[in-house]
Amino acid sequence: PKDQRPEDETIKSPPVAGDKVTNIILVPAECAPLSKTGGLGDVVRALPKALARRGHRVMVVALRYGNYAEAQETGVRKRYKVEGQDMEVTFFQAYIDGMDFVLLLRFPSVSNTRCVPVIHNIAHQGHGLVCDFRYVDLPQNYFKLYDPGGGEHFNVLATGRRAADCVVTVSHGYAWEMKTKEGGWGLHQKINEFDGKLKGIVNGIDANEGNPQLDVYLASDGYTNYPAETLQTGKPQCKAALQRELGLPLRENVPLIGFIGRLDHQKGVDLVAESIPWMVDQDVQLVMLGNGRPDREQLLKHFENQHHDKVRGWVGFFVKMAHRITVGANILLMPSRSEPCGLNQLYALSYGAVPVVHAVGGPRDRVQPFDSLAEFQATQDLVKRGMVISTYLHIEMAATVYRVPWIKPCARLGELSRADFDFMRWAQFVKPGNVY
Ligand code: ADP
Repeated sequence: PKDQRPEDETIKSPPVAGDKVTNIILVPAECAPLSKTGGLGDVVRALPKALARRGHRVMVVALRYGNYAEAQETGVRKRYKVEGQDMEVTFFQAYIDGMDFVLLLRFPSVSNTRCVPVIHNIAHQGHGLVCDFRYVDLPQNYFKLYDPGGGEHFNVLATGRRAADCVVTVSHGYAWEMKTKEGGWGLHQKINEFDGKLKGIVNGIDANEGNPQLDVYLASDGYTNYPAETLQTGKPQCKAALQRELGLPLRENVPLIGFIGRLDHQKGVDLVAESIPWMVDQDVQLVMLGNGRPDREQLLKHFENQHHDKVRGWVGFFVKMAHRITVGANILLMPSRSEPCGLNQLYALSYGAVPVVHAVGGPRDRVQPFDSLAEFQATQDLVKRGMVISTYLHIEMAATVYRVPWIKPCARLGELSRADFDFMRWAQFVKPGNVY
């Protein structure tokens, strides 16, 4: 479809709650530091604090996946029907960073509450087999809601949308994409019905977590914490520490390129892989970290074995290493085919790595394109003057500082190819002389 997005309406300056204090309960699938598989966990750690700072009363209700040291048993126990069985549910409570977390197996019902589903990725809708519908404790009329055009399923997201007062998603661009056939994953018509009540609000990153000055993972092993003012010495020191830790040649003036993410089709790691033969012919270092599809995990190991002088491929989920790659990298590759918000490019902006992204979803909202070397050099001058931005309130400003090329806007989502992800387009900008 033709790109007819209106201007970004997301929050420019946050309102203060004042008299309008609202009781807000967040009900996420995961929340860092207790549970995290991706960006959702990070957001659920940062968002309640940001809401509380504005004066709202916030609580997080989540599942207790493990024996978290922070969580204390409350003594409250209730019996519920779960998957056809009568089960006792124990309630735990944790108080982390001034926030209340209630951890349990099932949610207590809350009456007279307005409901706002937040769609972090519409590709994950919670499809269920017909025979499993009886396990979800929903009224029968919800079952008829979803007709995916053939397959017999019920759909938790479609059900949630029915119960919603409005729907929020994690970027302005993604709100638009969800309304298109290519981006709506079968729900675009239902999303379109919501038009006036659908908002895109870009996720933020926690100013303490995603900040090179306070990052706990930079306090040892030769890394260093640094404020924006000492970026010019702090970042090269961290880059050297990363090279040392990974056994790469210790060179300040080589562009260090990073990739961090789930190894699946969405994140476009195959596009990076296709370009590696070209990349290793250049004077660069490449560090990739990810887990997911076994064949992609093998690829990472393969490229490390083949090009041990330049490439590292770490397989697994290592939070410390993710922070260290972001701080050590000069460039962060994020060739996602679809990216509802994407936190990695926001971390990259905060840590002084130039994110290279496709013009989709959140990256398109927050990473500006540039087309000439002169323009790029102008942004480098700003960087050298210490204009690195490290709090989520300033992401918009950061995006204008680090304007990077986006690869041509895609006409149809899901049809991006090697040609779209054309490294030659930005290669001219990553010569050693341009690396700070
Ligand atoms: P998504 O939520 O779609 O996975 P985001 O870019 O929004 O993508 O967030 C990904 C988060 O997960 C970031 O904090 C990133 O650093 C982290 N992450 C992804 N893969 C790994 C990994 N293999 N090891 C450690 N952290 C990872």
